[in-house]
Amino acid sequence: MKSAEVDILADGTLDYSDELLRALDYTVCSIHSRFAFEKDKQTERIMRAMDNRFFTILGHATGRLLLKRPGYEIDMERIARHAKQCGCFFEINSSPDRLDLSAENARVAAEIGILIAISTDAHSVHEFGTIRYGIEQARRAGLEKASVLNCQPLETLTKLFKR
Ligand SMILES: [Zn+2]
Repeated sequence: MKSAEVDILADGTLDYSDELLRALDYTVCSIHSRFAFEKDKQTERIMRAMDNRFFTILGHATGRLLLKRPGYEIDMERIARHAKQCGCFFEINSSPDRLDLSAENARVAAEIGILIAISTDAHSVHEFGTIRYGIEQARRAGLEKASVLNCQPLETLTKLFKR
């Protein structure tokens, strides 16, 4: 499968054209700037991004960096409900700096019925091993196989990723 991490811009649009996004099997869309937006504005920015039918997975949902910066303010439940409606997914980012979703947010998302990807955010092959931290985070959240995207067969994923 072909994929890319796609930036969610300040106004909730994605930084790739639809033409380019269409060539991908799925996307991981995330925020990398404007962390200081107030809660409603940040929440709506993400919800607007999810309205784009090429949005698949919300990457590192709160942007927190452990011991460095808290996450930005968002209404997790509202975003999760919107994601459910749109057919989007969340990720547990396994990077030890992030572990984002938190166990608590992962539980909220799973209760609303969102499937969650455990991803490494690896920037080199040496970082693939960090997936164990993401798996541990999923266990802390009490996630079961049925809530984890990685555990779904390719055929199911292909269907889930089409909106
Ligand atoms: Zn990122």
